[in-house]
Amino acid sequence: MAAFAYDFVIGTVVNPAGLILAKTIPASRLTAFSEAGFGASPSWHGFAIDQVGIAFNDDIGVVGDYRILADHDALRTLGDGVAWVPGSFYDQQTRPALSCSRGTLRRIEDRLADTGLTARIGHEIEFFLVGPDGAQLPSALWAQYGLAGVLEHETFIRDVTASAGLAGIGIEQFHPEYGPNQFELSLAPQSPVAAADQLVLTKLVLGRTARKYGLRVSFSPVPFAGTVGSGAHQHFSLSDDSGSLFEGGDGPSGMTRRGGHVVAGLVDGLPEAQAILCGSVVSGLRMKPGHWAGAYTCWGTENREAAIRFLPAGPGKPHGANVEIKVIDPSANPYFASAAILALALDGLDRESALPPETTVDPATLTAEERAAAGTALLPSDQGSALAALDGSTRLRAALGDQAVDAILAVRRYENDNFGDLAPEALTDRFRMAWSV
Ligand code: GLU
Ligand code: MG
Repeated sequence: MAAFAYDFVIGTVVNPAGLILAKTIPASRLTAFSEAGFGASPSWHGFAIDQVGIAFNDDIGVVGDYRILADHDALRTLGDGVAWVPGSFYDQQTRPALSCSRGTLRRIEDRLADTGLTARIGHEIEFFLVGPDGAQLPSALWAQYGLAGVLEHETFIRDVTASAGLAGIGIEQFHPEYGPNQFELSLAPQSPVAAADQLVLTKLVLGRTARKYGLRVSFSPVPFAGTVGSGAHQHFSLSDDSGSLFEGGDGPSGMTRRGGHVVAGLVDGLPEAQAILCGSVVSGLRMKPGHWAGAYTCWGTENREAAIRFLPAGPGKPHGANVEIKVIDPSANPYFASAAILALALDGLDRESALPPETTVDPATLTAEERAAAGTALLPSDQGSALAALDGSTRLRAALGDQAVDAILAVRRYENDNFGDLAPEALTDRFRMAWSV
């Protein structure tokens, strides 16, 4: 019998609610997992964040069966006898399932390639370290971005860094964040599907490592009511034959004309994508001015209060100019979130959308009239409004497909119907560990 560098393989998929689901197989079964796949009910798409519910719709039911096929080329070994591989959903004839988030992003990546464009995406992930039951950890020693946080959790940081290195994850930086026991990891940019895979693997590494210390990781957008939230910002760049669309042009901060259309498409379509980027029942608690979460629909160069922050080229940008979408939070499915961003970018290019004026100040300091004149609005913090905007979005339905959009709407509507009335404290307590692994 062939020897493997690991005993078993964890295969993961991410569902529309942002839950990471998994099957494990012995190492010897990997070929079968890659070629014939393993069965999963359509209800996997409907599993809700409350640990019990299933959001059924016309496509998500108890009848039928998908195959989850492992993407063998993306396999990573993690040490300790464990390997990991991402999976995608297919039907019984091994045709891609249209509701699959990874497959949806792959289709958008192919569409970009057909139009001569290449995208690179760099994910950031913020999280809180908590006790095994979600309890807040002591924070007597903590300053915002402070050294105390590094020393308090030095061995955790070391082990995450070492495990990530072993697994081939490109960590760019890892630092204490604003909130007590909150950290952020930034990941090296990659092509869209590979970048989202890398984020999923990073969450797995964080969950495994935290356990060694009797801790857990909260990926809730707001783990504790009334404190800062956690983002899952995505930085992206787009290039064509002539190079990056975001540098070397005559537009603001060096944007090319096409780069301007991309940013315009994002500003214009962002309210429709909100339910995909930060659409959970907890997400609205983070969507507030003053939280660096990008609650205003506008763009600005290095503006941390703009939903779309433009980072121009320069010596401090080894990966070149890029656009950061700040509204995304860790409850989002990262494949769907990237798909939505790239779909809006393509939409701006197709329509040759005009770049709106840049917001050069904190949008909260503008008067309501000034914001209205600039087309800047505060994104809604109620889930119902965000869901209605996605439901009515012809451009996102056309780009992602009705099955994908309706699957997202189903799980988020379930949340809104069942938990939308909870007060902030009850809501954050209830779902602090919902996205934990
Ligand atoms: N924690 C902030 C958020 O919720 C982001 C802080 C930062 O800009 O790094 O998105
Ligand atoms: Mg941060």
